[in-house]
Amino acid sequence: MSQQPTHIVIGAGISGLCAAHYAAAAGHEVLVLEAAPRPGGCMYSHHFEDLNGYWVEAGSHSCFNSYGNLLDIMEQRGILGRATAKGKQSYRLWRGGKRKSVLSALHPLELLRSLPTLFRTEKAGASVREYYGAGLGEKNYRDLFGPAFRSVICQPADDFPAEALFRKKPRRKDVLRSFTMPEGLGEIPRALSDAPGVSLKTGCNVTAVRPDAEGFAVTCADGSAHRADWLTLAVPPDVAARLLAKVAPEAARLVGGIGMAEIDTQLLVLDKADVGVDALAGFISVDGSFLSAVSRDFLDHPELRGFAFHFPGDALDEPARIAAACQALAADPARVKAQASVRNRLPALRKGHAELVTALDRALAGGRLGLTGNWFLGVSVEDCVTRSRAEHERRIGAVAALPTAA
Ligand SMILES: Cc1cc2nc3c(=O)[nH]c(=O)nc-3n(C[C@H](O)[C@H](O)[C@H](O)COP(=O)(O)OP(=O)(O)OC[C@H]3O[C@@H](n4cnc5c(N)ncnc54)[C@H](O)[C@@H]3O)c2cc1C
Repeated sequence: MSQQPTHIVIGAGISGLCAAHYAAAAGHEVLVLEAAPRPGGCMYSHHFEDLNGYWVEAGSHSCFNSYGNLLDIMEQRGILGRATAKGKQSYRLWRGGKRKSVLSALHPLELLRSLPTLFRTEKAGASVREYYGAGLGEKNYRDLFGPAFRSVICQPADDFPAEALFRKKPRRKDVLRSFTMPEGLGEIPRALSDAPGVSLKTGCNVTAVRPDAEGFAVTCADGSAHRADWLTLAVPPDVAARLLAKVAPEAARLVGGIGMAEIDTQLLVLDKADVGVDALAGFISVDGSFLSAVSRDFLDHPELRGFAFHFPGDALDEPARIAAACQALAADPARVKAQASVRNRLPALRKGHAELVTALDRALAGGRLGLTGNWFLGVSVEDCVTRSRAEHERRIGAVAALPTAA
């Protein structure tokens, strides 16, 4: 960056990079500070260099044609044309140490009896268990939908706010319904961190934020210091609570109550011939040691298959995780071709979260400090982008309609 930044974004996950995109489009010189050695946060495609760059998604694996704000940004960055169709496979259940079909856990009569309640019940203010337990039936919730929702958010789902789990959004008919990218979804944050007006500094763990004249002074663990008139925090809530303490104490107090779910993601690559199960989307775990698993079978490779198994953080060591994953895949752990472990973190939102966000927005009103992330509207990628856009519009103005890149 040739000149002083006018806007600092802390955190180079999809929330921070989309905030940076909007700010740069409005003429700000944006510096993004990221603790990790790479951008992307939970949107990370792990490339195995020894396997010719074969990749497996360590976090997000699907984007949809209902992700309107993300699609607009991808279009403006000239990467929407790279969206690649995902092959259709089904999820399997993992229950009692056996693979089962999803339908085997469904109680159809109970579902038919309960469904009218689903359409009558108010989602806002209800927990996932309250809303879906009543609307799909308690047995269905226990045997199928509860575990399925837990799989989606990689943590117990009962107390999660129902409205933050799925949000209906309009679909763009000219875009693939569900898509990945040729090099994995990690292409998207990489393209955003390389945008004009955006400068990314990785390996920069921000330790403190202080008020500075009309703006903000930011200090990193490597001793570097930065200042800017505008600041956007796009970090998990526990980090945000710490960094907000000196610049927005009331916001820090509110954010401090949000919990986090720690997830150990085990990535595995095997030769096709060494996997004993047919192509599948992944596993919904009812009672296994892992929470869920996602395969890379949606993008066929001539020789390899890749998998991401998500475990509760710190529950098992790597050999035990590999053994559990191989059991579900009917594979011999000794035949694993490549492996990697990634720590993912997701917010553990609770019933009443919408009121907390309202109070938070009140605490931030009128200032140049913005807060974004996957802990406002919900955890999906589009929820992140939507929050980043709303924080931009609150402070800086309407998002400009940019020309589409060639
Ligand atoms: C396993 C898994 C599967 C998922 N699948 C999907 C999916 O298929 N589709 C979908 O829409 N969503 C999915 N999600 C959700 C979605 O990927 C995430 O909610 C989203 O990517 C979060 O983006 P974020 O930028 O808000 O946060 P993060 O990605 O967590 O980014 C925060 C960034 O802040 C950085 N940071 C933290 N502390 C500091 C500090 N002190 N200084 C500087 N930087 C710091 C972190 O290193 C990180 O890069 C999935 C999530 C997970 C974990």
